[in-house]
Amino acid sequence: MAPMPCATAILPAEGRTIRVRGLVQGVGFRPTVWRLARDCGLAGDVWNDAEGVMIRAWGRPADLDRFLRRLEEQPPPLASIDSIAWELSEECPIDRDFHIASSRAGEVHTAVVPDAATCPACLAETLDLSDRRYRYPFTNCTHCGPRLSIVRAVPYDRCNTSMAGFPLCPQCRAEYEDPEDRRFHAQPTACQACGPYAWLERFVDGGTEPQLFSECDAAEAARALLLGGSIIAIKGLGGFHLACDACNEDAVARLRGRKRRYAKPFALMARDLDVIRRYCAVDSQEEALLKSAAAPIVILPATGPDRVAKAVAPGHPTLGVMLPNTPLYHLLLRDMDRPFVMTSGNLSQEPQCTDNEEARHRLSAIADYGLFHNRGIVNRLDDSVVRVMFGKPRLIRRARGYAPAPVKLPTGFEHAHPLLAVGGELKSTFCLLKDGQAVLSQHIGDLEDAATLADYQKALSLYLALYDHSPEVIAVDMHPDYLSSKLGRERAAADGCRTEEVQHHHAHIASCLVENAIPLGTRPVLGIALDGLGLGADGTLWGGEFLLADYKTFERVGCFPPVSMPGGAQAVRQPWRNTFAHLEAAIGWECCKREHPELELVRTLESKPLATLAAMMRKGINSPQSSSCGRLFDAVAAAVGLYQDAVSYEGEAAIALESIADARALALEDGYPIQLRIQAPASGGLTTMDFSPLWRAILDDLEGHTPVAVMAARFHRGLVRAIIEMVRHIFERENQRLERIVALSGGSFQNKLLLEGVSHTLEALGLTVLTHSQVPANDGGLALGQAAIAAARLMASRHRPHEKVTSCA
Ligand SMILES: [Zn+2]
Ligand SMILES: [Zn+2]
Repeated sequence: MAPMPCATAILPAEGRTIRVRGLVQGVGFRPTVWRLARDCGLAGDVWNDAEGVMIRAWGRPADLDRFLRRLEEQPPPLASIDSIAWELSEECPIDRDFHIASSRAGEVHTAVVPDAATCPACLAETLDLSDRRYRYPFTNCTHCGPRLSIVRAVPYDRCNTSMAGFPLCPQCRAEYEDPEDRRFHAQPTACQACGPYAWLERFVDGGTEPQLFSECDAAEAARALLLGGSIIAIKGLGGFHLACDACNEDAVARLRGRKRRYAKPFALMARDLDVIRRYCAVDSQEEALLKSAAAPIVILPATGPDRVAKAVAPGHPTLGVMLPNTPLYHLLLRDMDRPFVMTSGNLSQEPQCTDNEEARHRLSAIADYGLFHNRGIVNRLDDSVVRVMFGKPRLIRRARGYAPAPVKLPTGFEHAHPLLAVGGELKSTFCLLKDGQAVLSQHIGDLEDAATLADYQKALSLYLALYDHSPEVIAVDMHPDYLSSKLGRERAAADGCRTEEVQHHHAHIASCLVENAIPLGTRPVLGIALDGLGLGADGTLWGGEFLLADYKTFERVGCFPPVSMPGGAQAVRQPWRNTFAHLEAAIGWECCKREHPELELVRTLESKPLATLAAMMRKGINSPQSSSCGRLFDAVAAAVGLYQDAVSYEGEAAIALESIADARALALEDGYPIQLRIQAPASGGLTTMDFSPLWRAILDDLEGHTPVAVMAARFHRGLVRAIIEMVRHIFERENQRLERIVALSGGSFQNKLLLEGVSHTLEALGLTVLTHSQVPANDGGLALGQAAIAAARLMASRHRPHEKVTSCA
C-alpha cells in the first residue's frame, strides 16, 4: 500500500500535478496511468479535460520520478505524447488509493483517433483455441480496432458508434469496467455472444442468395473460394474490398475486366512478412510501416524470388502490399502462403462501397460472393498508401489508420482562429484548424464524381460536429470551378463568414512548411511546386513553379515555359496532344517533319487532326497555356511511345516513364540538355526554361533507336539538372531575401527519381531541403496549406487592423 502521501505524513512525500498533452484521449491513457501509479506506490487521481490528461500524484520523490519515466517510456500503443509537464502541489490526497476520475467539463479536443490494425494480443486470442474469442472476426481492445470508421457523433462512446446496436454481454461488460483489463472503456469491444458477426452470400443475377456458412466458417469458406478462382467482395474496416487469388492470372484478369480498371495496379494483402518477402524486398523502415497500427499499403520493389500474376501491376517494378488489419482478414489469410489481391470495392472512378445493401447492388456484377458483416461503416476510409523515398516514409494517400490524427502547427500558430480549408478538386481532403493544430480529413477522392462529392459533404459535417468547430473563415482554392471552392463559398454565405482565396501552388508549399514545423514569421523560402495543374495568380494554368514563399504571400520567380494544352481537359487524357504542343512550341512542327520525316512518332502524330489543333492553339481556342510539369512528363512519355493515345488516370504516363527508367543509365548517362531562359528584371524577371534542346535530343535519340529505358533515364537526369540550375540562379539573385531553405511539393514529387535526384543535389549544395512525409505531396495535402495561409493572413490582419488582407471575399 502507498505510504500516507501528505505534507503532514511521517514518510517523505510530495504532491505533483502533471499535465500530459498530445493524442492521449480515447487510447487507454487513463488506465495506463492508473496501472503505473499503483505499481509505483502512488496515491492520487487522473482525468481527461479540455487540454488532454491531468494527473495528481502523491508519493516519494523517487517513486514520482520513476512513474514519470515509465509513463514516458510505456505509453499505450495508440497514444502520442506531445509533452509532460509537472509542478509541485500543496494539496493533500483524499485517500491512499489511485483513482480514475470521470472527464472534467470543457470541450474535448482529441476524442476520436485513427482506426488501428489488430494488436498482437487480440490476434493471439483470435487464434487461441482455448480463448473465448477464438476465431471471432471482430476481436478488438483499447489498443486496436475501429475508431473513426464507426463514429457517428461525440462524445466517442459506444452509443454514438455503429456498435450501439450490440449491448455488451456480462463478460464483455466486466472487462469494459475493469481498469486492469485491456478492454477497459474499449468502445467497440465485443465477442461471439454479443457482437457483430460475418457471413457469406453468393451473388446471382444481380441479387444474392444467403449461404449456409456459420460465422466462424465464413472466412474459411471465402478463402477456399478465392483459391478456387472466385472474386469476393469483402467488408473491411473502412469499406469493401474486392479480392481474388493474386497468383491466378485468370482471376486477376477477370477482376480487371469486371471492375473496368485496366491499368492501375491492384493492392495485395499477405498473411505476414515472410509471405511478402517472397515477392518483394522489404527494408527495416518498410517493415515497421507494414506492422504499424496504421497498417497501410506500402509500395515495395517487386524483386522477391516469386512472382504474382502479371495482371496485378502490369508494367510496374513495384507492388503495393499490406498486412491484415482486422481479425476477419487474419482469419481469411491464415495458412495462406501467397497474397490475395485486395483492391477497393468499387467500379473504377466511384467511391468504395461501405454499406451491405449498396455492395449487393453495386458489386454483385463484379464479385461472385460477398463476405459481409453487420458492424456498420459510418465513415468511408480507403486504405492509406505509403512509399519510402529519400530515406523517409512518404504518405501518398492518407486515410485509414492516419486520419483524423492532428498535424501539430508550427510555432506562431498557437492562437490561430478556427477556420476551415476545403482543399482541391482531385484527391480531395479538407482541413479544420483550431487550437494550434490542424485536423486533415482522410482522402475522400475526386469530387467530379457525384457520390464522392456527397461523401465529402457528409464527412465535413461529421468533422465539424466531432471537433465542435465553427469556422470564422473558409479557405478555398482560387479556381472558381473547383466543386470544393463552390461548396466553401456556399457554406461561407450561409454561415455569414468570410472566404479566403489561396493560390494552388502556394498552398502546396505552405503545406510542406507546416509539416516541417517552419515557424510563422520565417523569411521566405524557395518553394518548388511541380504538379499537374492549378490556377495561377495570373489566370493561366501553372504546374512547374518556383516561388519565394512564406505563409502569407508568395512571389513567382521561375517556372517551366508555358505550353498550350490543345483541347484543354482532353490534353490531360490524351498525352499525344502534349507531345504535339511541346514540339510545336520548342522547334515548330513543320521543322520537326522536315528534319525527321521517317520517324514513327512523326508519322503517328500526322495521323491526328493536327491542322485543327494548330489552328486552335494559334487562335487560343480551348488551348490554355500551362507551365505544368505533369504535362511535360505526358509529352515526353508519349514521345517515347508510352501511353500515346490515352491514359486512364492523371499521372499514368509519368508513372510509366519513371518505372521504365534504366538504373544503370541513371547512374552513368548525361541528362538531356535544358537551358534557363533568364529575363531582365525590367521585363518581369521571371526565369523560365528552354525545352528546345531537350526536344531535339529526344528526336535524335528516337532516330538512333535509343532504348526507351535509357531515354527515360536521360529525361529524368536532365530535368533534375535543370531544376538545380534554376535553384542556383534564384539563390544567386535573391540571396538577400531568402532563407537557405528549399521546400519541395506537388504531385510530381511522388516520382522517386525526381524527389531523390533534386533533394540529394540540393543538400550537397548546403541547402536545407523540406519534403513531405506525413502529408501527401499531391493535392491531398492542399487543404493543410490553405488552412495555414488563411490563418497567417488572418492573424496578421487582426494584429494590424488597418492593413488590408489579400482576400476576394
Ligand atoms: Zn487489441
Ligand atoms: Zn460479449
